[in-house]
Amino acid sequence: CGIVGVLGNHEVAPILVEALKRLEYRGYDSAGIATVNNGTLDRRRAVGKLVNLSDLLVHEPLAGKAGIGHTRWATHGAPSVTNAHPHQAGPVAVVHNGIIENFRELRAELAEAGIKFVTETDTETVALMTQMYMDAGADPVAAANQTLDRLHGAFALAFLFQGQDDLIIAARKGSPLAIGHGDGEMFVGSDAIALAPLTDRITYLEEGDRAVVTRAGLTVHDAGGAQVTRAVRTIQIDA
Ligand code: GLU
Repeated sequence: CGIVGVLGNHEVAPILVEALKRLEYRGYDSAGIATVNNGTLDRRRAVGKLVNLSDLLVHEPLAGKAGIGHTRWATHGAPSVTNAHPHQAGPVAVVHNGIIENFRELRAELAEAGIKFVTETDTETVALMTQMYMDAGADPVAAANQTLDRLHGAFALAFLFQGQDDLIIAARKGSPLAIGHGDGEMFVGSDAIALAPLTDRITYLEEGDRAVVTRAGLTVHDAGGAQVTRAVRTIQIDA
């Protein structure tokens, strides 16, 4: 239901939780974050209010200056820790808003290849498929692109990768996604409100866009695969 992402210069866990709080107005049943710390991808998830995630993070902190976060409104699979995002498959973690409409078909294909599922969500398919392409030799950007080519439905997605503390891949198809520009930091959010305390310089992805985000900026390809420039707007939201 809500997506955030940060490539920062400070510990991101509290920043991600704070940004998720600003998306609470959308409603949610569970929440989670993933970070890359010294190359290691890890995650924490909790059912219920964000305070449950914050409490978990007190007992099991998550270090790292790059991360993604999610508030979930379950569409496929009950609200549970297992079904909460981020979904991780080996070297990739994924957060997702919306629905992957052809996930049953993709799931059957993955099952055929001997790949095992641990959740009931449509989203896990995205993580497993990206892992499969990486196992076959694709780099993170290529693997995410190959996966995105296969997805039908309405969604916003953000990908974070093991060993990559300066990379978030974001894709928008039917669900809005904003990219925030900081000073040597970059942010991703379902809307600019989530990012308001972090930056007022926003690039809105357009329908079908895919963005490769690093601290140096972003590269966007449109639905047709052409590299495009999207405007950076200075917006006004009371933080
Ligand atoms: N379809 C996904 C799920 O049920 C994402 C739902 C959402 O937008 O939060 O896990």
